[in-house]
Amino acid sequence: MASIGFIGLGNMGGPMADNLVKAGHDVRGFDLSAESLARFVTAGGTAADSIAAAASEANVVVTMLPAGKHVRDVYSGDGGLISLCRQGTLMIDSSTIDVETARDVIALAQSAGHHMIDAPVSGGTTGAAAGTLTFMCGGSDDAFSGARPFLDIMGKNVIHAGGAGNGQAAKVCNNMLLAISMIGTCEAFLMAERLGLDAQRFFDISSTASGQCWSMTTYCPVPGPVPTSPANRDYQPGFAAAMMFKDLDLAKGAAQSSNTYTPMGARAFDLYKEFMEAGGAETDFSGIIKYLEGRK
Ligand code: NAD
Repeated sequence: MASIGFIGLGNMGGPMADNLVKAGHDVRGFDLSAESLARFVTAGGTAADSIAAAASEANVVVTMLPAGKHVRDVYSGDGGLISLCRQGTLMIDSSTIDVETARDVIALAQSAGHHMIDAPVSGGTTGAAAGTLTFMCGGSDDAFSGARPFLDIMGKNVIHAGGAGNGQAAKVCNNMLLAISMIGTCEAFLMAERLGLDAQRFFDISSTASGQCWSMTTYCPVPGPVPTSPANRDYQPGFAAAMMFKDLDLAKGAAQSSNTYTPMGARAFDLYKEFMEAGGAETDFSGIIKYLEGRK
């Protein structure tokens, strides 16, 4: 069994770390939030009082942090994991961050003799608790195969997307597409209604016709056709609009840095920004249908 340091025990990291504990690993967790740390101890984990304490015995470290700047802070510098961990430590960063930061931090870790992958996830807090996340991984073959047994505990689908940063590249492209397809699905349901078409009838037709997509068949933004979708619980997240906006912001940066023309991604960014400014930040991202409904 491995000795694992786990940094970032929030909504996602908490249940992911719990699953490593349940699998029998010795997990020392650290979080700036005393509340998150206490919850982890209740779930059977061991609390570390600093990054150094979480790193001291570890042969594996996992990080699940809010954004790129947190990842840079936690890994680099004198008090960072790269200098604190024993040489040859396996490092897995599952935060959703920009590709450039992921590549920079992995290069730093490798030059210090560690093995590191970026491994952002999809599947949300439910997937984190159930151990059914999808991991999109970037890094060397060796680092990926070392990480795989741990990712298999926390997830159901583990995919090697290529070299360092490619997990983040897959995540940002996928979520930009998801935002675009969700907005398109909302527009279609709104117009169908105003043209006199019943939502269920439109679903029955479009979900088996060329317009079908995940946003319609699994996460339908109107109540009724897909009983498990957030539309049936007043758009409680799920996946909050603020999180989608964060990913669209990353997509905007990625489009700029890769010199890619993404007009639909840019429009999705603007629309989610407007939705947030109108008070939708904590609403599920499919709730943008309510914002579009109120626009002329
Ligand atoms: P969260 O805010 O609940 O958790 C992040 C945790 O990191 C917090 O508990 C915070 O205290 C801790 N933290 C921040 N800086 C730290 C530091 N220097 N040292 C130790 N702890 C520190 O966020 P979350 O929902 O768990 O999301 C984590 C990451 O996963 C984000 O990048 C997010 O975009 C991504 N993600 C989230 C979801 C979701 O549904 N919540 C889904 C997929 C991906």
